[in-house]
Amino acid sequence: MNIQQFRHTIQHFVDDDPGYLRWLTRHPASFVLNTTRIPSAAYLMLHRANCWTITKLQPRATTFTGDYSKLCGDRDELEARARRLGGTAQACGHCLRSA
Ligand SMILES: [Zn+2]
Repeated sequence: MNIQQFRHTIQHFVDDDPGYLRWLTRHPASFVLNTTRIPSAAYLMLHRANCWTITKLQPRATTFTGDYSKLCGDRDELEARARRLGGTAQACGHCLRSA
């Protein structure tokens, strides 16, 4: 395994806000697929890693990685993951307006 392959492996953060926030700062140009705690087609929202909706806790939230978990990686691989889950990655209306 080389560094290139490692860099392009999707990371999944559950109950790990420190790990998630560290990943965000290291991969500002990557993407985050916000999904249910156990990833499923029920909720798949794709964001840029610098989107405010996934980098700042929402008013009633206490964690980023509790009821919802985060799949982090490149856009292509996250969209492929969403398809394997039987769904489609929805583009966030804030950071990824559909063209
Ligand atoms: Zn977003």
